[in-house]
Order: sequence, then C-alpha cells, then structure tokens
Amino acid sequence: ATPAATMVGTTIGAQNGVLFKGGDVLERVKDVDVVVFDKTGTLTEGEMSLTDVEPVDAAADGGVAAETADETADLDDESFLLSVAASAEHGSEHPLAEAIVEGAEERGLAVSDPESFENVPGHGVRATVDGAEVLVGNRKLLRDNGIDPEPAAETMERLEHEGKTAMLVARDGVLLGVVATADTVKESAKRTVEALHERDVETVMLTGDNERTARAVADEVGIPRENVHAEVLPEDKADAVEEIQTSGTRAMMVGDGVNDAPALAAAFVGTAIGSGTDVAIEAADVTLMRDDPYDVVKAIRVSEGTLAKVK
Ligand code: ADP
Ligand code: MG
Repeated sequence: ATPAATMVGTTIGAQNGVLFKGGDVLERVKDVDVVVFDKTGTLTEGEMSLTDVEPVDAAADGGVAAETADETADLDDESFLLSVAASAEHGSEHPLAEAIVEGAEERGLAVSDPESFENVPGHGVRATVDGAEVLVGNRKLLRDNGIDPEPAAETMERLEHEGKTAMLVARDGVLLGVVATADTVKESAKRTVEALHERDVETVMLTGDNERTARAVADEVGIPRENVHAEVLPEDKADAVEEIQTSGTRAMMVGDGVNDAPALAAAFVGTAIGSGTDVAIEAADVTLMRDDPYDVVKAIRVSEGTLAKVK
C-alpha cells in the first residue's frame, strides 16, 4: 500500500478503537484464515462471580462430616466449604480466586490469610489454612495429590454443562465439595463469530478451562465444537497456535492475559484486548481499545479498505 493508504487505514482504525502496530500489520490482517479466541476476558466479560457452593454428600462417601466435626461445630457444611476455599484463595490474584473470596465475604464468612500459599498454574492453588493443607482447583490437581474427585463427579458435570467453572475443594486429603463461578458471554460475541463465518474466516477457541465449560460457551457463541481446544496449559497456548498454523493457515490470536502473550507472538496476527495486561498488549500487533470482540471484524474491514471513514 502507498504511505497515504496506510495513513488512511491507521486513522480509520484509530477512529474505531483498533490500533495497528505499523503498516505491514495493517496489510496482513485481511489475509487471516482463522481467528483463535481466548475464552475468559475475550469472549466473556472475565468478571467471574460465585454461583454455587456444594458440599459432597457426606452420607454418600461415609464421613466427611465426621472428619471435619471440630470445625463444623459452628458452621454448616456449605459455609465451612466456602470459608476454607476462600482462605486458601486469599493469596491468589486469579479471577477465579477473587470471585471465591468475594462470594465468601458477601455471605459474611470469615476469610483468613493462608499460612502458606502456592499457585499451581493451570490447575489451582495449594495453601495451608488453620494448619490444614487445602487444595482448590481442577480434577487433575486433586488426582496429582492422591485425592479421588469421583464423589463430586456428577456435581462437577452438571455445573460445567451450565457453562460454569467448577472447582474441587479438599482439606487434609478429604474432598469437601465443589465451588463454581460463572462469567457472562460478551454481548457481541455471537455476532462477531457469525460475521467471521460469513467472510469464510474460521473460528477457534483456546482455553485453560475444562472441555465441558468451554463447549457450553462455544455453543452459545457459535464456535464449532470441533474447534474447541480446552484444558490448554498456559505454556502450551503458543504451541496450539503454531499447530493451527502448520500447512500455511494464517491465524489471528485474540487474547487478554499474561498467559496469552506467547500465543499472540506466535500468531500471524496477535490481537490484544485493550483492558488486558500490558504484557499481552506489548506482544500484540493489533490492540482493540474497546474490549469489543466485534472490533476484530472491523480490523479486517479496515485492512481490506472496506470500512468507510466516520466523520
Ligand atoms: P484460563 O485459560 O481460563 O485463564 P487458567 O489456565 O488460569 O485458565 O486455569 C485453568 C483451570 O485451572 C481453571 O479453569 C481452574 O479449573 C483451575 N484454576 C486455575 N487457577 C485457579 C485458582 N486460583 N483456583 C482454583 N482453580 C484454578
Ligand atoms: Mg485467560
């Protein structure tokens, strides 16, 4: 493109909240074959709130209540479960952790600082709360620590079918139950996916969340189920993008998190959501200032030269 065309494109982009890092990026965007969306914070608002607190049925597995009798003297099972989970998560800045802590505080429960705390990236947290070892996280976290998540299997599946992120809580080797959070799909997410499909651009979802939750969200926005990559560890997101790009497919990766930065860098075009982390914005070629996924479509149209200047 001529310098003048680049100027016009850059200006129209900026007027629409789409920032291109240079003229070559502006030209490249129109050639993407597939848009890979991060789920949380990109397709969804990323503002999780606590929705469910479900102790495992003590009768069914013979003695959770008995084992925790001391502590449940003044708390019912549900409050105990949530207060243990919230105290363990008090050391974490993960959006899931913040939702659990807020939910506990809203219910008037005491949340204490854990005596020790460890992040297990992509899986959950391990903390010491009142001298007990507490785990909050996914099935793999519990299995890796020798705890069978099976007694909570049905509860987990039901919540995940609803598109929620369900997390297991264990204390000193005993499964206490499940807490779940929900996030809202962004208003324009479905329209965005439809517009991309109309342009013969494929859509993919990449997420660390579990398969069932990811599928529920994919169904809601119209991303084909076979294009959902779930339970992808933070360090594997870039590899997933590279795999999509083998055989010459040109991918735009859209994400917001620190986790997404290597994947943004690996993609033919990396697009960061403006409210995302600085690390993501730095790694990206394009930044969407308005946090609106539909601006992906606008970015493509600016690149094609088919989006008219707004006066
Ligand atoms: P995302 O791709 O959605 O940002 P992460 O890679 O951060 O997801 O986490 C993947 C999964 O690991 C979560 O869906 C959750 O099951 C579990 N997990 C991660 N961090 C935490 C945490 N602080 N507390 C509980 N579970 C967690
Ligand atoms: Mg994320």
